[in-house]
Amino acid sequence: MLAQIEEEHYVKLDELISLCRSRLRKCDEDLIRRAFFLCYRAHSAEKRASGEPYFYHPVEVAKIMLEEIPLDDVSVAAALLHDVVEDSDYTIEDLRDEFGEEVARLVEGLTKISGIFANREIKEAESFRKMLLSMIDDIRVILIKFCDRLHNMRTLDALPPHRQVKIATETRDIYAPFAHRFGLGKIKIELENLALKYLDREAYDDISARLALTRTERIAYLEKISLPIQKELTKRGFKFEIQRRPKHIYSIYNKMRQQNKSFDQIYDIYGIRVILDTDDSSDCFGAYGYITQIYPPVPERFKDYISVPKHNGYQSLHTTVIAPGGKMVEIQIRTRKMHEFAESGIAAHWRYKEKVTSADEGIDQLIKWARDLVANANTAQDFMEGFRLNLYQDEIYVFTPKGDMKVLPVGATAVDFAFEIHTEIGMHCIGAKVNGKMVSLQTRLKSGDQVEILTSKNQTPKADWEKFVVTHKAKLKIRQFLNETRRKEIEEGRNIWNKLVAKTKRLFTESDIVKLARFHGLPTPADFFRALGAKEIDSEKLLEEIEPKAEPKPEPKPENKNGVPPVTLDDFARQAREVHGLKADNSNDAVVISGLTNVAHSYAKCCNPVPGDDIIGLVTAGGTVKIHRRNCVNVNNEQILKSPKVVTVQWKPTATSDFLAGIRIYGEDKLGMTNEITHVIVKSEINIRSISLNAKDGIFEGTVILYVKNIEHLQRVVERLRKVEGVFAVERFSNN
Ligand code: MN
Repeated sequence: MLAQIEEEHYVKLDELISLCRSRLRKCDEDLIRRAFFLCYRAHSAEKRASGEPYFYHPVEVAKIMLEEIPLDDVSVAAALLHDVVEDSDYTIEDLRDEFGEEVARLVEGLTKISGIFANREIKEAESFRKMLLSMIDDIRVILIKFCDRLHNMRTLDALPPHRQVKIATETRDIYAPFAHRFGLGKIKIELENLALKYLDREAYDDISARLALTRTERIAYLEKISLPIQKELTKRGFKFEIQRRPKHIYSIYNKMRQQNKSFDQIYDIYGIRVILDTDDSSDCFGAYGYITQIYPPVPERFKDYISVPKHNGYQSLHTTVIAPGGKMVEIQIRTRKMHEFAESGIAAHWRYKEKVTSADEGIDQLIKWARDLVANANTAQDFMEGFRLNLYQDEIYVFTPKGDMKVLPVGATAVDFAFEIHTEIGMHCIGAKVNGKMVSLQTRLKSGDQVEILTSKNQTPKADWEKFVVTHKAKLKIRQFLNETRRKEIEEGRNIWNKLVAKTKRLFTESDIVKLARFHGLPTPADFFRALGAKEIDSEKLLEEIEPKAEPKPEPKPENKNGVPPVTLDDFARQAREVHGLKADNSNDAVVISGLTNVAHSYAKCCNPVPGDDIIGLVTAGGTVKIHRRNCVNVNNEQILKSPKVVTVQWKPTATSDFLAGIRIYGEDKLGMTNEITHVIVKSEINIRSISLNAKDGIFEGTVILYVKNIEHLQRVVERLRKVEGVFAVERFSNN
């Protein structure tokens, strides 16, 4: 076996083994040697486009892997063997016999992926899908594939231009975003830069030339401004390293294009990275504090990815400071461990753990993400849409009531959140509470919001939801539901139609139906049947239309709706005035106004205090006293509370008169709800002044005005109402 190997090629093996020794914690060197020899033999007849022996390629792929994402010895063997099955007579079974199950499985995954790319007939989307599926099997497959692609990109010069463009496009559109999603920061940057080199050579050359031209000046500048940071952090006892770095070419290129700027106009081309040798992430904030005492920060550019990491696990503090000369410099602060994760993402797990297990949360999430993406896609288009939506959107971080964090794209609504928690929750969501307040379903969420979704089993997705949701999952599920509903309604409509036609004994052609649809203002027969199936077209009336001789039916009488008109704030205020009037001080009063006797007082209509509320009095221009709740927005500010117009007011413990209080109830719009609410209130021995319920989209908002004795009385009934099934929220009704 050894005799077959030319002397010069031993060098490659030696390099590889020594790299294994330095980069892997443990390594079966015999396995590597055997894989190397088999790789050599299998590819011995081949040459690369560059004229080099083909086996250089798998060896380089293995080396890139060891340098960039050192996984384990099995992966090194798989990297060496990744093209063997495709390019030689060796089969997977041969490899299984020779190297065992694990290596064989990895090579099989890699072979499948490359087979997909070799077959030009297969739609691009389909190949991503397979890529994801193989990743779910074993994440190492895709990591090795990145190294394979990186080596191909590094050696792309040897290929003809049309192949270069194809491979570079694929790299930019698929591999780089994937690498980003895996947190492989370094590989992603190199892939992007290399892709740009083949896709827009002119721009690539221009930017690199300009970067080179300004390099000396830039390094001198960054060094100058790093010095005070270095001094201060050393003085404070930090152990750290400062890296000075330019933005990478592709991101400068993007910035120039997106913001239509010239190279000189991009101010944050240079940056400083402070890597702290500590395990305590709070040191990053400490360092941030000292650095921003030296250079003033631009507040809106501060980003804390430590407390809330990016989707791909990235952690770091980012800030932009104004350095001498008025230049803006981006500073990133992170611990050594965070840095390793930023550079090699998921692969960094191998450095901190013996092996990635299913208990590893980061990897679990990635695999779940991929699984969802594959499982939810019906067509290649669906899949591509999901892929793009998932990889390129900016993110917000919102929380469940239990404090679990959910990552959503910017612009996500309560409905997106509901679908993110569970499809069933999304399908039946009826309303939401954001930070405790009821909001509509299309409310856009912000980072930090705590969101509770309210559901009803009677609720179904609505057509307008599709217009405001932004996540792929929500869009897809809503569309599926609406399509399915439409299909059923059309079917139902056809059945109704057939029965009607049977009654008329007339014959209808397709064009009769088209006319009939137009007559009802509907574009197609399908729309016509749907409207009929959804009972939007009355079948009795339709029968009259198509059978003119049928007896005319009497006009139905409009239904008498026994609803109570909604109560407005003005009504409420008027009612409050009627009950309390404007009283002069006498012994029956509910309040004692300190320091004042015989002064007329009234209860402020903006907040309607009831006995037990924390209250204050405000002397009005007319010399009377208005009694407000202390937390009423109209009085609750420093200036008013300090003014001499404020008088202390207390409830008399013996107060027995009835006070008006308003509450708002939100709940599910279902039969018998009014009854149940009324019942609960009456059982609490409270009189209702008025009650009104307004329903919309399956949710009702009820306004109830009650006579209560005091705050405990009110709270008791509020508590009971909250327990009614289908009630989501009960709030005190007031102006604030
Ligand atoms: Mn290859």
